[in-house]
Amino acid sequence: RIAVLGSTNMDLVAYVARAPEPGETVTGREFRTVPGGKGANQAVAAARAGGDVTMIGAVGDDAYGAQLRAGLEHAGLDTDLLHTAEGPSGIAHIVVDDTGANSIVVVPGANGTVTALGPGEMAAIAGADLLLLQLELPLSAVIEGARVAHAQGVRTILAPSPVQPLPAELLDCVDLLIPNEHEAAALTGFTDPRAAARHLLSQVPAVIVTLGAKGCLYAARGGEPVIFPAPEVTAVDTTGAGDTFVGTLAVALGERRPVPESLAWASSAAALCVQRPGASTSMPYRTEIDAA
Ligand code: ADP
Repeated sequence: RIAVLGSTNMDLVAYVARAPEPGETVTGREFRTVPGGKGANQAVAAARAGGDVTMIGAVGDDAYGAQLRAGLEHAGLDTDLLHTAEGPSGIAHIVVDDTGANSIVVVPGANGTVTALGPGEMAAIAGADLLLLQLELPLSAVIEGARVAHAQGVRTILAPSPVQPLPAELLDCVDLLIPNEHEAAALTGFTDPRAAARHLLSQVPAVIVTLGAKGCLYAARGGEPVIFPAPEVTAVDTTGAGDTFVGTLAVALGERRPVPESLAWASSAAALCVQRPGASTSMPYRTEIDAA
């Protein structure tokens, strides 16, 4: 069983030729609402990869909240600990221009109400094989979740996104840190992923730096960093690749499969994701990952 303590957002995406300047109005071409949030995306990826997943967090009492909850239930997640908070759901307001560049405003909404854990959340984390964390919930809750997991010997994976300085009290409870290249550089000041990984190993026992089309770098204390190349594929939309990688990897590690096999499996899943448009909609199912 995998517990995900994380965010659920509705992504409001407007496609325009050119993003507006301050004070300007532009006419867009297309608008979509897409369920998202790093927590929910990783949870959906894990469920599609065959994981038994509990989502811990909150949606709002608005129409988006009901839609987000229904989507997660449809994906097969246990949502008993996904609370409905008074007020709006979290949203990401996204403008994508013709070059593919995006500007994003995230309003945490209900996610911001998850500041502490109740007995039910603590029990779910304590009873899990693995806890998945990101940084889209208040840091107090992330730290508390990591502490509960650590105290019970539950393996804790942190995807440090959106990147921010990580307090020692959090890192002390993390077993595996999975930053992308930019996050690894921001956390350490080293742009070379090997140097960044070595630095991070002084704080956590194992690190995976994801390197986009180049694959990922795995480093654990006492060993040399190793690069696992990504399958060579034609990418059409890399949104959600990182979340697919993390969610799928959690399933493999939760099944106690060896690290190299788990990394290869997660890389296959992420490579399938980038070959299709969309984020959560492009995440592959277990049979597809096994076939790849
Ligand atoms: P994020 O999406 O968080 O920025 P990355 O861009 O590093 O993270 O991608 C995460 C993982 O997704 C990579 O480690 C790799 O396995 C896979 N991936 C991303 N882009 C590609 C690509 N163009 N081809 C194949 N795999 C990819």
